[in-house]
Amino acid sequence: MQPEHRETEVKPDRLSWPASRPRTPRDVAESRIRELAGLPDRRLAFDDFELVKTLGTGTFARVWLVRLKATKEPNSNVFALKVLRKAEVIKLKQVEHVRNESKCLSKVAGHPFITTLVTTFSDELCLYMLLEYCPGGEIFTFLRRSRRFNEYTSKFYAAEITLVIGHLHDMHGISYRDLKPENILLDQDGHLKLVDFGFAKQQYNLETYTLCGTPEYLAPEVIHNSGHGLAVDWWALGILIYEFLVGQPPFWDSNPMGIYEKIVEGRIRFPANMAAPAKDIISSLCKVNPSERLGHISGGSQRVRDHPFFEGINWDDLYHKRMKGPIVPEVGHPADTTNFEEYPEPPDPATQAVYTDEMKEKYEELFQDF
Ligand code: AMP
Repeated sequence: MQPEHRETEVKPDRLSWPASRPRTPRDVAESRIRELAGLPDRRLAFDDFELVKTLGTGTFARVWLVRLKATKEPNSNVFALKVLRKAEVIKLKQVEHVRNESKCLSKVAGHPFITTLVTTFSDELCLYMLLEYCPGGEIFTFLRRSRRFNEYTSKFYAAEITLVIGHLHDMHGISYRDLKPENILLDQDGHLKLVDFGFAKQQYNLETYTLCGTPEYLAPEVIHNSGHGLAVDWWALGILIYEFLVGQPPFWDSNPMGIYEKIVEGRIRFPANMAAPAKDIISSLCKVNPSERLGHISGGSQRVRDHPFFEGINWDDLYHKRMKGPIVPEVGHPADTTNFEEYPEPPDPATQAVYTDEMKEKYEELFQDF
């Protein structure tokens, strides 16, 4: 049996971050929200929101469904608010990742299959990312419930992810680095929304050495620590397609070392009834050598879209969401949370890491962009 939610491994980043970054289009989105909610012309703050329910928890973040207090109707102006405690972020050496996350998300705001970052803000103790709310819940939940997806559903969702990866790589030079069903949510029409850009990084064609990701989805070059680039996302797409079709990832073991050994060996066993184009796209994406990997070889992302596995996909219709997705979640109203699990109450702040004066002196400047 596989574990439920696979935790992303948090490993320290060895790279340093440049001192400044440009402001982004999210400023425009924020002023629209302020206008909509009749808020005065100032930065949003935690106090502007009412906490409704926990939607999810990460290693050092909690995501809440929140409602703007200024809203007249109870079910409108709801958002997902990702709350990160500064002290935890520092303790887990995630400062650079958190900055990367907000930077990458603001660059890609508005893509149909990525959750839009509306704005960021901070206070004495926490950093906040205000995101559009995806009421359909995680695709992981639907996958575990139905055990596996049929070929059409797998193809449809793999196609939406292909558009996301192509956009991140080709338009922004961003690698996502944590593709897995737990990070893919559904909107009310059954389209995907990719969340958690905690490991995303704008690296263009450069290599990076941070060991990060989730064991089952790690590419061999990440395990070898030989330097990795954008190609890791194409490897992960192959793993994802396999998990959609089979119900579990191709390289699995009860301990991570066993998983890593199987990954670097790269031998995939396919169920006898898997269709030939599916086997072919998975084998082509999961090439141990990144320079032979579909998506990274000549032709780039276009070559992935042209693969026979995607036969019948009209990419333009898909991008413009001219059809509903194959799994349309039940969503009663915009603030409906029935597609999310129940989470225990947040821990007592008194038991959590303290943001010391020393931390403040060293790191506060790095949080100024929030
Ligand atoms: P993260 O720390 O970004 O991985 O988020 C943890 C969990 O919170 C995710 O796996 C989702 O279940 C939930 N979540 C994150 N962002 C959103 C969102 N925009 N809308 C709804 N749920 C979300």
